[in-house]
Amino acid sequence: MQDREHLKDPDRLKDPDRLKDPARRHPEKAHRPDNPIQRKPDWIRVKAPVSPAYNETRRLMRELDLTTVCEEAGCPNIGECWAKKHATVMIMGAICTRACAFCNVATGRPFALDPLEPEHVATMVAHTGLQHVVITSVDRDDLEDGGAAHFVRTIEAVRRESPDTTIEILTPDFMRKPGALEKVVEARPDVFNHNLETVPRLYPSIRPGARYFHSLRLLARVKELDPGMFTKSGIMVGLGEDKGEVGQVMDDMRSAEIDFITIGQYLQPTRKHAAIDRFVTPEEFGAYEKSAYAKGFLMVSASPLTRSSHHAGEDFARLRAARQARLAAAAE
Ligand code: SF4
Repeated sequence: MQDREHLKDPDRLKDPDRLKDPARRHPEKAHRPDNPIQRKPDWIRVKAPVSPAYNETRRLMRELDLTTVCEEAGCPNIGECWAKKHATVMIMGAICTRACAFCNVATGRPFALDPLEPEHVATMVAHTGLQHVVITSVDRDDLEDGGAAHFVRTIEAVRRESPDTTIEILTPDFMRKPGALEKVVEARPDVFNHNLETVPRLYPSIRPGARYFHSLRLLARVKELDPGMFTKSGIMVGLGEDKGEVGQVMDDMRSAEIDFITIGQYLQPTRKHAAIDRFVTPEEFGAYEKSAYAKGFLMVSASPLTRSSHHAGEDFARLRAARQARLAAAAE
């Protein structure tokens, strides 16, 4: 492998553990009062990530110097997913230019893009033989195109190395980056995912750097540009939203023709992050699922541990089958 040390953040080279320190990981949150972390209910407990396959996935990610959202966001499903070699790569570095109140990805000034990263993602996919890969990124408001060209290069590299692998991208909102979305859609990923994250009322406190209607419009635009592309979006619950607001988000998503909705429980990463309002029960998730199907989504994943990329491969196969069944029913 080529030496990439010169491409890395010089601060990280001087102090590799810098991003492990919560105060330096989230400098913008350091002055905030502590929000005590609530004990999780029984239905949220997950097993510690220990298995040879988990260690093998970890080793591969380190060897290729790839960042994953599984680790950076402290995802509770990491033990299960990595044991199946299913990891979600996070391109364009480990530092985000936004500072959402729910997210554990480090905030700050990112470093230069790694031009070899697309090839390394492609190598990882080929090596693990993934049928379906999920590629996400940090927000890169500092880049003129928000990182759109890097997404395109990564999609192209994976296609070249693994033509049969389906590709799902989970993108930032490309706000104030004219032409960026169009570029990414032209690269024809199989699934275009962008999360709305929460109900519009909570945007100022939970997702202050973003705009609900901009995100919704982004997803509607994907369908306008390529009606055959699957679109997907998700929200977290337990942040203080009410059921009526969740229903309204579902209606908004349907009016943007989003195919697949994911709904999962918000979990508080540290004391400096937004507090959990409450733990939504599995029965309530069941009711959300029923209601979302009734509103016309092709696929719904609603459960406490649902995350955008959880079971994404199996879900993609079901999504495709659901579209075929609907088209067949319409033709009768
Ligand atoms: S659910 Fe997604 S982010 Fe979490 S461990 Fe699995 S692949 Fe990674």
